[in-house]
Amino acid sequence: MMQTLPIDPLLPELCKELAASRVAVLEAPPGAGKTTRVPVALLEAGVSGGGQVLVAEPRRLAARMAARRVASEHSERLGGRIGYRVRFEEAAGPETRVLYVTEGMLLRQLLADPKLSGVGAVVLDEFHERHLDTDLLLTLLSRLRKQTRPDLSLLVMSATLDAEPVAAFLDECPRLRSEGRMFPVEIEHLAEPDDRPLEKQVVSAVRRLLDLDPNGDVLVFLPGAGEIRRAQAALEPLAAERQLSVVPLHGDLPMAEQARAIEPSRERKVVLSTNVAESSVTIDGVTGVVDSGLARIAQHSPWTGLPSLVTAKISRASAVQRAGRAGRTAPGRVLRLYTKGDFQSRVEHDSPELLRADLAEALLTLHGAGIGSADSVAWLSPPPPARVAAAEELLNVLGALDPAQGLTAIGRRMLELPLHPRLARVMVEGERRGVGERAALIAALLGERDLRLSSRTDFGGGRAGADTATGPSDVLELVDAFELARSLNFQPQRLRSHGLEPRSVEAVAKAERQLTRLLPKKRREPEYDDDSEQALLQTLLTGFADRVARRRKPQGLDIVLASGKTARLSPSSVVRNEEFLLAIDVEERGGKAGINDGVVRLASAIRPEWLLDLYGDRVSASDELTWNAQAERVESLSRMCYGAVVLDESRGAARPSAEASAVLAAAVVDFGAQEFLKGDALTALIERFALAAKHYPGQSLPPLDESTLKARVLALCEGATTFAELRALDVPAALVANLSSAERRLLEEALPERVRLPGGRSVAVHYEPGKPPFIESRLQDFFGMADGPRLCGGALPLTLHLLAPNGRAVQVTSDLAGFWERHYPGIRRELMRRYPRHSWPEDGRHAEPPPPRPPRR
Ligand code: ADP
Ligand code: MG
Repeated sequence: MMQTLPIDPLLPELCKELAASRVAVLEAPPGAGKTTRVPVALLEAGVSGGGQVLVAEPRRLAARMAARRVASEHSERLGGRIGYRVRFEEAAGPETRVLYVTEGMLLRQLLADPKLSGVGAVVLDEFHERHLDTDLLLTLLSRLRKQTRPDLSLLVMSATLDAEPVAAFLDECPRLRSEGRMFPVEIEHLAEPDDRPLEKQVVSAVRRLLDLDPNGDVLVFLPGAGEIRRAQAALEPLAAERQLSVVPLHGDLPMAEQARAIEPSRERKVVLSTNVAESSVTIDGVTGVVDSGLARIAQHSPWTGLPSLVTAKISRASAVQRAGRAGRTAPGRVLRLYTKGDFQSRVEHDSPELLRADLAEALLTLHGAGIGSADSVAWLSPPPPARVAAAEELLNVLGALDPAQGLTAIGRRMLELPLHPRLARVMVEGERRGVGERAALIAALLGERDLRLSSRTDFGGGRAGADTATGPSDVLELVDAFELARSLNFQPQRLRSHGLEPRSVEAVAKAERQLTRLLPKKRREPEYDDDSEQALLQTLLTGFADRVARRRKPQGLDIVLASGKTARLSPSSVVRNEEFLLAIDVEERGGKAGINDGVVRLASAIRPEWLLDLYGDRVSASDELTWNAQAERVESLSRMCYGAVVLDESRGAARPSAEASAVLAAAVVDFGAQEFLKGDALTALIERFALAAKHYPGQSLPPLDESTLKARVLALCEGATTFAELRALDVPAALVANLSSAERRLLEEALPERVRLPGGRSVAVHYEPGKPPFIESRLQDFFGMADGPRLCGGALPLTLHLLAPNGRAVQVTSDLAGFWERHYPGIRRELMRRYPRHSWPEDGRHAEPPPPRPPRR
C-alpha cells in the first residue's frame, strides 16, 4: 500500500486539466509528491496518449532517485516501465513509459529529434530553480507545441507558490496548487557571527538540536562535498557518543550511498547535504535543520565565460525553503549559522541563471535547433541583449556559425560535446589535428579545478620546476601534472606528496574518461613529440582566439589583449619568454578599468603566423603616416593587427600623397613656418611688396604678412614629404609665381630686380629693410646719364653707390645731377691721380660709358 501524499487528491483534477488544455502549471511545496506521483498519474490517465512521459530534472541525483523510488513504489524493475537517463548512465528500455532525465539530456534529445516523437508529455520539474537549461527548455518546448506538436502535453512544476508569470507565459494556462501542510518551525539565528571553521559550528549546532529535541532527524545544509566530508569527520566523536548515523548526500556519491541518506535508519540520523535537499529530495523524519546559509553556485568567468563553481550566500527564499524542511511531519527547529542581520541583508530571490550566465552554450543549442537569433523566440525572461551579442561573437570566433547563422560542421560537432563551446572547440580541433586524446584531457583540465595544490608547487618529475620554470604553455604544465598523477596510479598519498590535489585529479580523470569516449573511433595517437606540442598549442588557439595577447616588454608581465584590455601575467606562469600568447584563465581584479584588469593564471604561447593562417580575416593591415622628427620626414607605418594586438610593424619613407603633405604641413606648423622663410631673396621680396603698397596704394599687391607667408609655406608642402625638400624650395619665386599677371607686371616694372645702365650694363637693385633701394656700379658706368635711374614710374629715385675701380664707393647719392655738378670735379682729380690708365672725361654727364665688363667672380 502506497503512502498517501498531499498531492494525491489533486491528481485527478490535474490530469483532467492537462488532458483538456495540454499545458498547465503545478505549484506544491517540496515533499508534496510532485516528482514521484505526477508523472505516473499522467501516464495512467492517458494524458500522454500512450506516448512517453519525460520528466526533466535539473540534477542527475534527483532523476535517478525519483525513478528508483517510483519503480519501487510500484514494485517494478527500474528500467522497465519507469526509467531514467542521465549523462553516461541510463536505466531504460523499449517499454519505458515514464523517463526521468536531466534537463541537459532533454535538450540533447530535442536537438536529435526536434519533434520529440514518441513523447506524449513533458514535465519540467523544479522549475522554481530557473537554471539556464530550464528556461531554454521552456522556450523550446512551448515553441514546439505551437509549431508542430500541439498534442504534446507540457506540465511545469514548481516548489514555490509564485509560478504566476510562467502560467502567463504559457498563454494563461491553468494553474493548480497544493498548499500542503506545514508545522510550525522555530528559527534561531546566531547572536554574533561565528568565525570558527564551518565544521566546528556544525558540530555545536547538531549537539544543540539533539539536546533541545529528543526525537527527529537532523538535516544539515552545507555548500559542497568538501565541507560535507569535513563536517562528517568532525561529527565522529558526537556520533559515537550519541549513536548517530551521519550520512552525506550530494551528487557525486554512488547511488546506493545517496539512497542511504533518504532511507529510514534505526539510529537517529544526521544528513549532511548540499542544496539538493532544499527542494529536489525530501528526507522523511527530519525535525531539525542546520543551515550554513551557503551554497555552491555556477558562476561564469567574465573573461572567458568558462563556468566555475563558487561558494555563495543563499537568498532569503532559499533560506526559507531550507527552514521548511524541518516542519514537514512535525513541529521543528532550525539553527541558522548566521545572524538575523545577515539573513535580512540577503537578496530576496536568486535571479534566473539566464539573466546572469554566459550564454555561449545556450546559443549554440539554439542554433542547433535552427533558431538563428535569440530574439526570434519567446522567453519567460529575455536574455540580456549585450550577453547575447557577446555569445554570438564568441561562437563566430570559434567558427561554429556559418554566414547564414546556421551551424558549421565544427559547430555541429561542438554541439555533441558536453563542454563549454570554448573547450568543445579545443576538442574538435584536437580531433582534426590528430591530438584528440590530448585535447580531451586539456578540455577536462580546463573544465575542472586546477589539480595542483598550489601553482607554486614543484612537481618533481614533471617539466615544471619552481618559480623559475619556463615553458611554452601553462596548459601543457597541467597536462604534465596529470600524466604524473597517472604514473602515480592516482594514489592520494603520493599525489599529495607531489603537490597534487587528489579530488581535483579524480574529477579531471573522470571527465577525461567521459570525453575520450566521445572521440571518433579509437585510433592510437602517436607518441607526443614537438610536432604534437605545436599542434596542441594551435589547438588551444582555436578555443581562445579572442584572448590573444602580446607582452608589452620582452619578459615583462604586462600584456595587452586583442580586446584592448590590459592584464598581468601571474608570476607563476611558465610562459616567460614568448611575445605572443593566449590569456586562457584570467582572474578578474577589482580596480580602475583599463589598468591591469586581470591576472592571467594560465597562459599559452602562440605565433603570429598562426593568426595569419587561421584568422586571416580577423587580421587587419593598416598604413599610417607619421612624422619622424629626427629624420625630418613623413614616414609610413605599416601595421598588421589582430584587434588591439600589433603583430607586425614596419616603417619607411612615405611616398608623396595628399595625406603625406598634410602630415608634413602639420609638422611645419609645429616646428614654426619661420624656419622656411629665411634668406635675403625673401627679405628683398617682402621689401618690394612693401614699397608697392606704399607707392601704389590703390592697386597694391596682396600683403606679404606672416599668415600669408605661412599659408604659402604650407601650400608648398604639396608633393613634398621632408623638411629638406622645403628648404630647397625657392619660396620667393613661388610667391611671385602665385601672383596674377597684372600684379606680376606691376612688381616687375615698378620695382624691378635689375636695371640697365646706359653702357648696357644690367645691375641688381638691392631692396633691404630700413634702406631705400639701391644699386652699385662703377662710376664710369653712369657716364652719359644726366640723372639716376628711378623706380615706381619715376617716383622713387634709386640710391647709387658709385664705385672706384677698386670696388670701393667714392660716393653714395640719389642725386646724380647734383653729383656731376658739385662733387665730380674734385673726385675726378683724385681718380686721375690714382688710376691714370683709366679715362676720366671732364663732363661725366655727357661722356661715353665704357663697355660693360664681364661680371666679377
Ligand atoms: P516533491 O517532488 O513534491 O518535492 P516527492 O515526490 O519528491 O515530492 O516526494 C514526496 C514524498 O515521497 C516525500 O515527502 C517522501 O516522503 C517520499 N519520498 C520521495 N522519494 C523518496 C525516496 N527515494 N525514498 C523514500 N521516500 C521518498
Ligand atoms: Mg520534487
